[in-house]
Amino acid sequence: MRAMVLRGGQKLAVEELARPAPKPGWVLVKVRACGICGSDLHMARYADERMAAARASGRAAAFPMDLDRGVVMGHEWVAEIVEVGPEVEGWEPGDRVTMVPPHDHLPGLPRSGEGGPGYSADYPGGYGQYMIVRGDRLLRVPDHVPDLVAATTEPCAVGLHAVREARLASDEHVLVMGAGPIGMMTLLWLKHDGVRHVTVSDYSAQRRELAARHGADLVLDPAVDDVAARVAEAAGGPPAVVFECVGVEGTIQQAMELVAPRGRVVVVGVCMTPDQMTPMLAIVKHLTLQFLYAYTAAEVEETLAALADGRVDTSALVTRTVSLDDLPGAFRALSDPADCKVMVEFA
Ligand SMILES: [Zn+2]
Repeated sequence: MRAMVLRGGQKLAVEELARPAPKPGWVLVKVRACGICGSDLHMARYADERMAAARASGRAAAFPMDLDRGVVMGHEWVAEIVEVGPEVEGWEPGDRVTMVPPHDHLPGLPRSGEGGPGYSADYPGGYGQYMIVRGDRLLRVPDHVPDLVAATTEPCAVGLHAVREARLASDEHVLVMGAGPIGMMTLLWLKHDGVRHVTVSDYSAQRRELAARHGADLVLDPAVDDVAARVAEAAGGPPAVVFECVGVEGTIQQAMELVAPRGRVVVVGVCMTPDQMTPMLAIVKHLTLQFLYAYTAAEVEETLAALADGRVDTSALVTRTVSLDDLPGAFRALSDPADCKVMVEFA
């Protein structure tokens, strides 16, 4: 099979690999589409360092992304079952499925003790033609849901988790910093849950336009707009919650400056480098900083159901699809602010 393989030195290339075979409890699937995720970009950039650190500390086994053997990333996939391994109940070849949460600690899921597809040299992920996935972690995609929508289930569940963890009161209004895929998914769930006023800020005009089209009550350009003044004017005061969906150095501090006294900063963006903030600012404002990871299994199911019945519509967030051969180039260029979610589609 063909797949985009990450190797040491941030090398990314399409290679020919052996097709994996399903073992007991697992199924072989043919990938139909897979979203490019910002966290995979971060992973590609920092995987060398993390592997070296794991080896230096004698915990190489805890870091299954062995770059010497090569890793096929990709966890935002929709696929079709090709072969069902022994001891798998309820699935047949031809079934269309999505979403094996690879995160071992998620509540409500059996623990595998091994890295999942997309995060391990043993289990290729959705940036390749075939993968093996656990039969007990699959969700059936209803026939009427297009591939490109089904493949947004995973990032969309991240937005749901962020919104639910923020526990918003009905009179609270919010600011979403960043209108990339995760900021947009957060916006969709905020509107779904009926939050009264949502401001979205982003430097990209295309992304601001996308946010406006998806229900943002106010969109701002931090390069030219006085965000604090504009939010206060439009919504009657500073936001009770700021969702930080950028994930670069300095944005948590900005969120702390913009949020209301006694407000909450919900950190959804994934910053993988040391960052600075001034605790005194959070202290005098009596702020809560909240960090999140992933979603619950129930939230993933709720997300797919909402996508299936149209309560949440991610279809316009997929701004570009590429072939596997074009994936390495698209992957490196993903910071292009004209794009939101980019997907690889398999013929
Ligand atoms: Zn992701």
